[in-house]
Amino acid sequence: VVLKRYVTGFAVEDDMEVVVDTVGLRVPAGSTAVLLKNLYLSCDPWIRGRMSKHDDGAAVPAPDFAIGEALANFGVGKVIDSTHPGVNAGDLVWGMSGWEEYTLVTQPESLIKINHTELPLSYYTGVLGMTGLTAYAGFMEVGRPKRGDFVFVSAAAGAVGQVVGQLSKIAGCYVVGSAGSDEKVDLLKTKFGFDDAFNYKSETDLAAALKRCFPDGIDIYFDNVGGATLDAALLNMRQGGRVVVCGMISQYNLEEPYGVRNLLDIIPKAVRVEGFNVGGYFDIYARFEEEMAGYIKEGKVTVVEDVVEGIESAPAALVGLFSGRNVGKQLVALARE
Ligand code: NDP
Repeated sequence: VVLKRYVTGFAVEDDMEVVVDTVGLRVPAGSTAVLLKNLYLSCDPWIRGRMSKHDDGAAVPAPDFAIGEALANFGVGKVIDSTHPGVNAGDLVWGMSGWEEYTLVTQPESLIKINHTELPLSYYTGVLGMTGLTAYAGFMEVGRPKRGDFVFVSAAAGAVGQVVGQLSKIAGCYVVGSAGSDEKVDLLKTKFGFDDAFNYKSETDLAAALKRCFPDGIDIYFDNVGGATLDAALLNMRQGGRVVVCGMISQYNLEEPYGVRNLLDIIPKAVRVEGFNVGGYFDIYARFEEEMAGYIKEGKVTVVEDVVEGIESAPAALVGLFSGRNVGKQLVALARE
């Protein structure tokens, strides 16, 4: 899947193109690299940022894609050939790969070996991969929950949100989620164990909805969306509350960002507002993987995935993240083994 043109506003499927190219099934002689057969591609909102042309010096998490270049993101793959010490043909790994069926990974040190092959490999695009680590690092390390805390999570049925909600229950908190459809709200309450949930699209007053759900206020707001939801949450924070700024998906496609109005509430309530980047937390990955695999096996964490089949389905799956088409972690299955 290659980028056809730089994107302004919302990405559409036609901004990408599936092209056919051939690849040798051996690492070229003289180079240190790993040839991966990609099994599962992860669809993540952050890729949208790399599809625009940034020539204004703005802080970006990774360089813009080049036109005609395959998109790249986290994925799960099987090693076909390797000239890198410590990586062998047959190994199952996850990490940065291309949006293609086979990828020559020239920085193999970024690949992580999959330990829990008894669990579905696709989980390493989500709950056991980057988005699970995001939920864990953001909630546990940045949010620092205490038993009995009142927690609010937005985009709660998505990849990060569903894990944050379940970690909240494990930590003994009261958790409410918001999502963009009644189907997702139902999922939050029946599948993921949220104490309450609401459909933000059918609420006329978000601040009033939060007041209804949290009469005594919010201790931790795990923000995945920014914009009007962040504004409403700020009005409802408790003394000493924490806003974990994970993402602002409502803003990624706007030319004019939403101006948050209620920042003054941070001062008298001594609210800590802290952003974080999962890239800074890979040093805790091994601990996280063991803990999360344990929760999954004990049935304390349930996973909902939205799986589409085949590389041709990838552009639509990516675009769908920005209209909430995905129910759960969005991924693309290319091959099972
Ligand atoms: P999701 O699986 O949650 O998918 C995105 C969801 O966002 C959609 O399903 C939709 O759900 C919701 N959404 C889309 N547009 C809007 C909008 N305009 N307003 C409100 N909600 C919207 O994605 P992820 O779990 O992968 O990512 C969640 C957030 O975490 C994103 O902001 C992402 O950028 C961020 N992130 C941050 C990281 C970090 O290091 N800080 C790392 C990884 C992710 P709905 O139907 O409920 O509207």
